[in-house]
Amino acid sequence: MSALDYDQEYDLPPEAATWRAAAAAFAAETLAPQAREADREGRFSPAMVRQLGAAGLIGAGLPVAAGGGGASLLAACAIAEEIGAVDGSARGFLAVQAGLVLAPLLAHAPTALREAWAGRLIAGDAIGACALTEPEAGSDLGAMQTTLTPDGDEIVINGSKVWITNGGVADILLVFGQTDPAKKTRGLECYAVPGDAPGLTRAPMKGRELGHRASDHAQLTFDGVRVPAAHRVGPAQGGMGVAMLGLEDGRLNVAAGAVGIHRACLEACVDFARTRRQFGKRIGDFQQVGATLAEMDVALRASRLMVHHAARLKDRGLDNAQAVSAAKLHATEAALDAATKAIQMHGSRGYTDELPIERHWRDVMALTIYEGTSNIQRLILGRTLLGRDTEKPSAGGTN
Ligand SMILES: Cc1cc2nc3c(=O)[nH]c(=O)nc-3n(C[C@H](O)[C@H](O)[C@H](O)COP(=O)(O)OP(=O)(O)OC[C@H]3O[C@@H](n4cnc5c(N)ncnc54)[C@H](O)[C@@H]3O)c2cc1C
Repeated sequence: MSALDYDQEYDLPPEAATWRAAAAAFAAETLAPQAREADREGRFSPAMVRQLGAAGLIGAGLPVAAGGGGASLLAACAIAEEIGAVDGSARGFLAVQAGLVLAPLLAHAPTALREAWAGRLIAGDAIGACALTEPEAGSDLGAMQTTLTPDGDEIVINGSKVWITNGGVADILLVFGQTDPAKKTRGLECYAVPGDAPGLTRAPMKGRELGHRASDHAQLTFDGVRVPAAHRVGPAQGGMGVAMLGLEDGRLNVAAGAVGIHRACLEACVDFARTRRQFGKRIGDFQQVGATLAEMDVALRASRLMVHHAARLKDRGLDNAQAVSAAKLHATEAALDAATKAIQMHGSRGYTDELPIERHWRDVMALTIYEGTSNIQRLILGRTLLGRDTEKPSAGGTN
């Protein structure tokens, strides 16, 4: 579509370009042939997890010392774009396994826990989940009602979680709960809970999801679940920091996945607008259709540059929280708009799952919701611009 190739145009260093090429090849050879059927059947594939692991894509962005690939965050974003362009469910899995489970585990878990789980999770031989959301605590993490009660050298967990990706199949779950409701986010802690822990029950989410149908989303009930106190991930009452560590890179992964969906929609539109003829000419030659392609392209470039900018900041050791929120807000909303335009441009063909664009449209909606809704990104950005109100104490924290 462009005279320049991607790596040239976006000045991708060889390291990131190599990872991007590997992810693109994996997406084309392994994910593309199965994505539609898995979505149709609502089937989560543990085999796909092992394939992702064998290709080195789960651990790509994790430190080499921990068995990861040592890729830059820019490279990890390039991977998420390539996987996201083909299979939103697979990209969602990766974001959870690598970003929300492995990253906090490697940064904060005691050595024994890390050694027991990291290698298996990176290889795709084990599946992880991260359980924050509750029926009464979505964006507002300080409202969490799951209780963590010490009993000797154990912690007893009671409560329920909803919408947990991989929750029904996970071998290990990072479960967040409250030690002191009065402290809100400052009372949160995180514990690693084995999937077979007595007292843990899991069930699929009620209803049929709009998108991400090849993902596993579960509701979890903790009825007196006991774990050793040594399973705590992160400091005492430091659960919010653990959650935010996962969410910061996770949000950028979501933004990069949205760029992938956006790109896939634009590419489909360009192909179609070149070949579909009405009124004796290519539909792309009608000014309104050509202008729509141009708008989709401009928004895509902006999203991709914002994602790369946020990644490059962190790769240089700089704070990128504001850039990540801006990238997630822009990229996910722009991709949703692009997917809507793509269906419209394809006419009736866009309305069936013969083409992947309706799946992209269904999948991308969730990207504007999880790991901080669009409003929550606006809230973070607004707060950052304003600075703290020094006259008002705050215990806010957002998912
Ligand atoms: C496909 C999918 C996968 C998910 N996977 C996971 C997972 O693996 N682990 C996990 O813990 N959770 C997961 N979630 C849950 C997700 O993180 C939450 O849905 C999300 O944080 C929003 O919470 P909520 O749905 O309760 O919405 P609510 O927080 O109830 O928000 C409802 C609406 O109110 C708006 N709103 C709320 N507060 C404010 C405010 N202060 N200012 C302005 N607007 C506001 C929101 O933007 C939203 O539009 C997943 C969700 C989906 C859809």
